[in-house]
Amino acid sequence: MPETRPASSPAHAHAQGPVRGNDYEAHFQGALARLHGERRYRVFADIERIAGRFPIANWRRPDGATSEITVWCSNDYLGMGQHPEVVAALTDTARRCGVGAGGTRNIAGNNSPLVDLERELADLHGKEAGLVFTSGYVSNQAGISTIAKLIPDCLILSDAFNHNSMIEGVRHAGCEKRIFRHNDVAHLEELLIAAAGRNVLIAFESVYSMDGDVAPIGAICDLAEKYGAMTYLDEVHAVGLYGPRGGGMAERQGVMHRVDVIEGTLAKGFGCVGGYITGSAALCDAVRSFAPGFIFTTAIPPAIAAAARASVRYLKRSNGEREAHQRQAAATKRALEEAGLPVLATETHIVPVMVGDAELCKAAADHLLERHAIYIQPINYPTVPRGTERLRITPSPFHDDARIATLTAALVETWDTLDLPRAGTVFAQAAE
Ligand SMILES: *Cc1c(COP(=O)(O)O)cnc(C)c1O
Repeated sequence: MPETRPASSPAHAHAQGPVRGNDYEAHFQGALARLHGERRYRVFADIERIAGRFPIANWRRPDGATSEITVWCSNDYLGMGQHPEVVAALTDTARRCGVGAGGTRNIAGNNSPLVDLERELADLHGKEAGLVFTSGYVSNQAGISTIAKLIPDCLILSDAFNHNSMIEGVRHAGCEKRIFRHNDVAHLEELLIAAAGRNVLIAFESVYSMDGDVAPIGAICDLAEKYGAMTYLDEVHAVGLYGPRGGGMAERQGVMHRVDVIEGTLAKGFGCVGGYITGSAALCDAVRSFAPGFIFTTAIPPAIAAAARASVRYLKRSNGEREAHQRQAAATKRALEEAGLPVLATETHIVPVMVGDAELCKAAADHLLERHAIYIQPINYPTVPRGTERLRITPSPFHDDARIATLTAALVETWDTLDLPRAGTVFAQAAE
C-alpha cells in the first residue's frame, strides 16, 4: 500500500536493505520451528509418475539417486491420468490449439474445448449448466461464496467435516453460518427449524475423504425440501467413481436430481486438473458473472479441457474401472484387517490405517518408503484431528492382488519395527 508508506521510507528503500532493523526472516524461521516442534512439518517426496506403469513411479532421493517405488496414496483413483484416450486428447489438442488458454475468459473468450467440457459435465449430473474453474478448491471457494452472496440474508448450514475449500467459501460469503454435526440430520433439522422463514444454503460432501464415510444425501434433500433450503454438494471424492455413469454418490443413490448444486473436480477420479459446479442455467450464469475467482483468472488450457472431457466421456460408458476399483479397495481392507492392522471401517474406496501420533505416523511413512519402496504420505493435523493421525491408502484398479500382498507384509513389518498400535486400539481425538 504505497499511500501509507511513511515519507521517511521511500519506495526504493528496500533495495538498500532493511532500514528499520526488522528481521523478517526470523518470522518465517520461527513459524517453521513451531511446526517442527509440533512434529507437523511436512516433507513432500520428489516423485516422477510413469505413464503406462501406474502406480509405479520414480522417486528421487534427497541425494539425487533415483529408484522405483509403488504409490499407494494417489487420488488419481482410477489411473485415468495415464489413460490412452485421455493422453491422446491432451496431446492432440495441444498440437492443434497450443498450450495456454490465452487469458481469462472475460479477456480472451471461451475456448471451444472448455465449452464442450461444460456441456459434458452438465449432462453427467443431469443439470442445465456447468461452469469450470481452475481447481476444485477454487470452484468451492468461489461457488459457495458467490451463491450465498446473491441470496438475500442467506444462512449457510455447513457440515462440521467440510473441506477447507468449502470453509473458505463460507467465510468469503460473509453471511451468517451454523455448523451442523457431521452427517447428523437431526442436528441439521434443529438448525433448519430455528431458521424458519430464512433463505438457507446447506453445504456438505458426499464422500468424506479422510474417514471414507458417506453423507445421507437423500435425507438431507428431504429436509431441504421440507424447510425450503438449497443444497450444495461436494462430490470431489465420488465423481467418476460412483454411479452408473460416474456421476457420483448422488447418482448412485438415485437422488442426483434433488441436489441443487453439484461440485466436483477434474483432478482426482478424472485424472486431470480443474474443478466445476453444475446447476441451473441461471445459477451458473450468475456465478460466471459475479465470482472474482472465476472472472479474474486464466481459464484452464484447451488441451486440459479436452483431456478432462475424454475422461468424463470414457467413464460415462465404462464400468470396468469402477468395479475393479471397488474390488481392489475391498481386497486391501480385508488383507490389512486379517493382518491385525487398525483399519478404519469404511463403506468406500478409502482405506485409513490409524497410527494416532504425528511423529510415529511420519516415521512409519519414512520407513515404508526407505525400506519397502512404498509411498504413503502421512496424514497429520490439521488435515485430521490430533490423535487420529493415519496412513491413508487409496487402492486403484492397478493395485493388483500381488501388490496388496506386498503392501500388507510391508505394513506388518513396519508395525512390528515401530511397535505401532494394532486393531482394537481406540483412537481418541485429542482436545484442541
Ligand atoms: C481435493 C478436494 C477439493 C479440491 O479439489 P482440487 O481440484 O484438488 O482443487 C475439494 N473438496 C474436497 C473434499 C477435496 O478433497
